[in-house]
Amino acid sequence: MRPNIKNIAVLTSGGDAPGMNACIRAVIRTGIYNGINMFGVMQGYQGLITNNIIPMDARSVSNIIHLGGTILKTARCLEFKTKEGMQQAYDNLQARDIDALVVIGGDGTFTGAQRFSKEFGVKVIGVPGTIDNDLYGSDFTLGYDTAMNTVIEAIDKIRDTADAHDRLFFIEVMGRDSGCIALRSAVATGAEAVLLPEKQTSLDELITQLESGASTKKTSSIVIVSEGHKAGGAYDIANRVKERFNHYDTKVTILGHLQRGGSPSSFDRILGSRLGFAAVNELLKGNTEQMVGLRGNDVKTTSLDEALNKHSFKLEADLLEMAKVLSI
Ligand code: ADP
Repeated sequence: MRPNIKNIAVLTSGGDAPGMNACIRAVIRTGIYNGINMFGVMQGYQGLITNNIIPMDARSVSNIIHLGGTILKTARCLEFKTKEGMQQAYDNLQARDIDALVVIGGDGTFTGAQRFSKEFGVKVIGVPGTIDNDLYGSDFTLGYDTAMNTVIEAIDKIRDTADAHDRLFFIEVMGRDSGCIALRSAVATGAEAVLLPEKQTSLDELITQLESGASTKKTSSIVIVSEGHKAGGAYDIANRVKERFNHYDTKVTILGHLQRGGSPSSFDRILGSRLGFAAVNELLKGNTEQMVGLRGNDVKTTSLDEALNKHSFKLEADLLEMAKVLSI
């Protein structure tokens, strides 16, 4: 029998990611199709506390599937970490008889959702939305594919100019704790080297790699640096390399927030739609404290506990080794 859920709200929280709008659309329409009153919460947990909760119908999510960012906005909200903040959020939901939440975000968002469910009994389902692709239980997180396409397009353009001038480029990409974007974009663009947060690479090792390329007449070199690399940011590393290796003119590009934006790829639109649809269906089955994710080509649930506590992206040593061989 279907549990007695009448009202569901959806929010986006933490870092935004392309595909969040496709997911919001799917959540709202799946709920309405099933006779549920649907609400959108503005600015993540902040909007729960400030009571910025809006009734939504099927038309309020028209023409958003192709948009980057999130129509519900997102925020980081310290107050939600306090008992008083959560109580205020709960009271605002109670006043509207909202008994269940779909939260789209990363591990911080899920930590908040899990506490909210345990301490106040609000049913929660999480959708993994982060460009970093770093949540256990989903092979891909929402936004990662679009971010990768953006990164690759940018690096291809840099390669054109690097080649024209015989330059060495250090390109910094996002991923403070996860080198997923860095490693896979290195494979996809044929970068000469990649520096990952998961792996210590010495300056000697890097310079040997660059020298070997120069000795086989490479006309340009690209080193991808993950922003979380222990040796420092791209500027630091470039300066240290420049002192010892001056074969090429050296330049640095930080791709920064452009990696977050843009129209979602077909993959992220479909993923967002599937996960949003699944999230509401899980709530209608009476489930809570679960994340919906993609494993293989199937949508599966993982407990928030596991999603938060198991480590997701293990350094793909085979890809790293292959990238080295293919860039000689
Ligand atoms: P992401 O979801 O992308 O990892 P954050 O780590 O910034 O982003 O988390 C998003 C929001 O989740 C925080 O601003 C906060 O409101 C909430 N949150 C994070 N950790 C907790 C916690 N321990 N308890 C309650 N809320 C939390």
